[in-house]
Amino acid sequence: MDEKISTTTLEEWLENVKPFAYDGQIADYIPALAKQNPEELAVSILYLDGDCVYAGDVETCFTLQSISKVIALALALIDNGEDYVFERVGMEPTGDPFHSIYRLEQHRPSKPLNPMINAGALAVSNMIHGQTPDEKVGRLLSFIHEMTDDHSIRFNSEVASSEFETAFLNRSLLYYLKQHKVVTGSVEETLDAYTKQCSVELNVLHLSKIGALFANEGRDLNSGRQIIPKHFARICKTFMVTCGMYDASGSFAIKVGIPAKSGVSGGVMGSLNGFGGIAVYGPSLDSKGNSVVGLKLLEMLSNRYDLSIF
Ligand code: GLU
Repeated sequence: MDEKISTTTLEEWLENVKPFAYDGQIADYIPALAKQNPEELAVSILYLDGDCVYAGDVETCFTLQSISKVIALALALIDNGEDYVFERVGMEPTGDPFHSIYRLEQHRPSKPLNPMINAGALAVSNMIHGQTPDEKVGRLLSFIHEMTDDHSIRFNSEVASSEFETAFLNRSLLYYLKQHKVVTGSVEETLDAYTKQCSVELNVLHLSKIGALFANEGRDLNSGRQIIPKHFARICKTFMVTCGMYDASGSFAIKVGIPAKSGVSGGVMGSLNGFGGIAVYGPSLDSKGNSVVGLKLLEMLSNRYDLSIF
């Protein structure tokens, strides 16, 4: 792609999609998330040559929520290798909501269908090396610091506690997985690590940098250092295509066609080979859990610049 979007155009587009911020709803099943402001919107594009174009509330920090599942998967693959990870978690999309328990009963031996649904992501968190939840989360944070080159990134303890105290469904998924030996150790400790992982807080500038790193085959854009092995970056991007946008991944692939992962805080991270990273934030969600404004912007970008990989 030769032509790059200008800041002015991106600002105009953001202004145009602003009215849609009230079409959806802010996630409130994690009580602390309900405090997000639907009017805070941001977008950042980091091209592989290092050019960055952004608009909106780019300093606003939000929690990664399910976007963390891609990063945790990359770390679990580095820690354990592909065979270990995929003996415990499958590779197939489900078409079910992210927290569904339904398919676990339907497969023998029982294992979560993929690492982007909660059952799979909980199993992946459990695999990250570390003796304690804090050690696991500390390692994940160091990994994120390396990817973003920002060592000040932390998890939001209010959001983490708010989720930990109310995560009854995730607790039951974990007990089920423990019964079937998909996870080991303490359920409470795994949930502690998972909720902290989901509460890592950053902004769209950071997120477009992580997306660009995945697009750059796992290499840091500036130093060229291989932070994620190319093959593992490819696995993560493939999951973004097949299951990154919840049970709307199929329609997103048709309408937008950019490998992307969404989270219930309203962030979306896109990663496009040969192009770079795209991050959007808008906390108002549609019925599937995807950012309403985020979807609109990504669709506009994809159509205008012909970004679909298909
Ligand atoms: N922490 C959230 C949960 O497990 C993540 C959900 C999401 O962003 O999809 O419910």
